[in-house]
Amino acid sequence: MKPKTKLQKRVAELSRKLNKISEPQKRWALGNCFDPTGYVRSKTIWCLECGNTFEHENGRLNAQLLGVVCPGCGKELKTVTSRRLKYEASEYYTIVTTSQEFQVLRHFVVSKKCRVGSPAVFEINEAVQNWFAPDGKRVNMSRTAILSIYYDSWNWRSDMEVRGKSAVYLKYNVFANYVYPRIKVTDILKRNGFNGDFHGIMPQQLFTSLLQSSRMETLIKAKQYGLLKLFAKEHASDADIERYWQSIKICIRNNYIVEDGSIWRDYVNLLLFFNKDINNAKYVCPADLKQAHDRYVEKKHKVDEKRALEEKKKKALEENEQFLKLKGKYIGIAFSDGNIDVKVLDNVLEYVFEGEKLNHCVYVSDYHLKPNSLILSARIAGKPVETIEISLKDFSILQCRGHNNQTTEYHSQIKELVNRNIHLIRERKLMKGA
Ligand SMILES: [Zn+2]
Repeated sequence: MKPKTKLQKRVAELSRKLNKISEPQKRWALGNCFDPTGYVRSKTIWCLECGNTFEHENGRLNAQLLGVVCPGCGKELKTVTSRRLKYEASEYYTIVTTSQEFQVLRHFVVSKKCRVGSPAVFEINEAVQNWFAPDGKRVNMSRTAILSIYYDSWNWRSDMEVRGKSAVYLKYNVFANYVYPRIKVTDILKRNGFNGDFHGIMPQQLFTSLLQSSRMETLIKAKQYGLLKLFAKEHASDADIERYWQSIKICIRNNYIVEDGSIWRDYVNLLLFFNKDINNAKYVCPADLKQAHDRYVEKKHKVDEKRALEEKKKKALEENEQFLKLKGKYIGIAFSDGNIDVKVLDNVLEYVFEGEKLNHCVYVSDYHLKPNSLILSARIAGKPVETIEISLKDFSILQCRGHNNQTTEYHSQIKELVNRNIHLIRERKLMKGA
């Protein structure tokens, strides 16, 4: 894509003037992106570095456990058991540098190809550049590529050009495993608190955050890396952070370092839900954050459950009229063997409670509105033991289940009792106008 804006044009021009990767930068990549490796076979070891194959000196097990030194190239090899004869791997490698007023990330692909009998062949090619203007605006330069989750295939013959509509932004957010340790940083990023440590944050996110948000600047200077990481990842604006800012200031004032930003924020949201004072260190700086968080999660869970039950009850009342039309004539049926009492569930609320007590779906699956079945509850001393569904077509037992849909020790006794009294239901069905 041709550079269009003034900013893009300037970046494209400066990009052409960037130095080629230097010898020390190359050496660092080759020495650090891959471990020197030897493939251990039954009798020999293949050194992937120089291509030599040599015999075990101190036995295979020793080589596998301790690694070996290649007699060919003298390198200390990490050993892997493998019979493969070829090896290929690539790694992203980033150089952090500057150009005029811009902070620049240059992402290279370092590849290593090995074959038995020949020394390893390395290649380093530049794939992407991210340019950050002092105001945080960003321009991406890159070659063309087919990217997938399994591999990235760059076309090294394509030009390094301005690219990146927002839809494919991800493609340009290379997060390399390896960063050249000698980095150059613009004065403005230094002034905004960046001292060379990324704190596990993607460089692109950290740079944008520090250039665009004064809140993020405060966080990095106050060593609140947990919160810095959370908000950088989410591309949070100052407005997003505002909601928590008073609480964060209290943490900073109390030298309370938030290690896990997302847990802390969840916790503050819970405090807000329970109308706690989030400007009070007693709440926002808990000695054991995890424990305090979990306690409030539990509390919230109970409130949610209670609300859900209220909802169910409300709905149940609304459905009761329809229920009475369908099952009205069976209301009041009850029988007992002296130990177990069985009764028809008389209204929809009873379905709700039966489902809650036995933790099954008698209510949520709308059994109360099924025209051809009837639900009974078997109870001992008033407590539900099993729930029974009877077919109103042939008066057989369709199901009979206790807590969590399991059967209980009373299962056969209950079924027997129901079958003995099934005529009560049959008679009601035959009654007219009930
Ligand atoms: Zn070697």
